[in-house]
Parts: sequence; structure tokens; C-alpha cells
Amino acid sequence: MEPTGWTDTHAHLADSDLFSHLQSVLAQAAVHGVHRVICVAVDAQSLDTIDNIYRQIETEDSSIPSVWSSAGIHPNYAHQEKPGDWEKIVSRSSHPRLCALGETGLDKYWDDCPMEVQLANFQKHWKLSRETGLPVIVHSRECDQEMLDFLEHEFRHGPLLGVMHSFCSSYEVACRCIDMGLYISFSGMLTYKKNDALRDVARRLPLERLLVETDAPYLSPEPKRSARPNEPAYVAYTGKVLAQLHGKSESQMAQATTENALNLFQRMR
Ligand SMILES: [Zn+2]
Repeated sequence: MEPTGWTDTHAHLADSDLFSHLQSVLAQAAVHGVHRVICVAVDAQSLDTIDNIYRQIETEDSSIPSVWSSAGIHPNYAHQEKPGDWEKIVSRSSHPRLCALGETGLDKYWDDCPMEVQLANFQKHWKLSRETGLPVIVHSRECDQEMLDFLEHEFRHGPLLGVMHSFCSSYEVACRCIDMGLYISFSGMLTYKKNDALRDVARRLPLERLLVETDAPYLSPEPKRSARPNEPAYVAYTGKVLAQLHGKSESQMAQATTENALNLFQRMR
């Protein structure tokens, strides 16, 4: 398939706010030019809901976006991992619609889960990434230094295959991540009026490493900020801002970011 249309590289379709009206969420996304959606898992249980999503849709239905998915454990849920959960994620890596691991990472904003548990959880995903060739979707919140320390250490084993999702950190952090092989994904935060600094980061980064996402049902972009829940249909609002920053048309940006997504998430090809 040609790399056209938008790719929402991060949406939680298994969240009840979206899952409860899945058909209209996907139909609206198609209407707004979204051709691909990556449905991101947060724990082993969310894989059951993702299975349910695949039961409800025809994966070859051209009137809705093609839905891909990930498998992994979010840092805020790492302490809730039960026996058998990781084995379930490992065996998921051969699923025909799976294209990534995660989301996983480090989070110091919510202190539900001890850092050593988060680090061990994050580490497991990178080991699995190297074994399977699957990219890692990385969540990082208020822990730039811990994240860079971890990634630098991991980078000694070779280039990192993955994406810093819903990026909201500095240009220096973004450049270091790109140097190690990672992509940078922007969510609705890029559209918020107060986020001039983030737009400046996005403007300075190389286009061939940029992705867009909604992180739906969270982070609705302007001008849909009051819309709850956020939906994949709104990814173009973020894409439009990114297009302006890079002096591109919306369709050029849709094509560029989709090409990048296909380069990173190779199983979507
Ligand atoms: Zn997420």
C-alpha cells in the first residue's frame, strides 16, 4: 500500500472511552484521512480487549483505517504485573497485526510504581525488541536524566529501534534520542497555545524522524481540546501544525510521517 493518509501511531482504542463506540471512532478516523492506527497496549489484560477489537472489525475493510497493535506493560502498571503476564506479551510478538512493543518506559510524575520496578520492566522490553526486531514505544514523563541514562546504556548493545511517544522534552534530549536511532512522535500537546517551546523543538528536528499521534482518549489537540474523548480522527490537527512548522502542505506531511511510521513499524508494510 502507498504511504498515504495519516497514521495515528498511538491510540488507546482498548480504553473504554473509545472501545464503547469503536465503529464510529474508526469511521470518523477514515473520514478525516486516517489510514492507519496503532492501538497501544498498557498491560497484558489490554491484549484481551485488543483481541475483542479484532473480532469486531474486518481487518481488510477499506472503509476504516487499518488497525495495528502493540503489546507491553506501561511503567505505571509495572508493579501490577501478575505471573504469566510477561509470557503472554512474549507470545504476542508473533501476532499477525502486532507491529510494536509497549508502551513502556519511565514515569516519575505518578509515583505508584517504584523506579527499580519500572527500570526492570523497561529493560525486559528492550531485550525482547532485540530478540524480535520489534520497535519499542517509549513513555517518558518527568525523568529525562533517568531516561537518557537508561537509553545510553542500552545503546551500547547497538542502535535503538523505537519511538519517544508524545514527546514534550527539550531539543537536546530529542537530538540524543535521534542519534541513538529513535523516532520522535508529537501528540496534541504540539497544538497547545502555551507550547511555543515544543513547537520550536519540532521545527528544528529532521522531518524523516518525526511521527504524529493522538494518545487518544487523552490530550485532545486544539481546536478540539474540549472534546472528550480525543479520537484518532483528530490526528490531522497535530499534523497540520507540524506541516506549518516544516513549510509543508498537510498532504505532504501526512505522506512524510506515514512513510516514517512504515519505516519504523515495518510489519505495517
Ligand atoms: Zn499512551
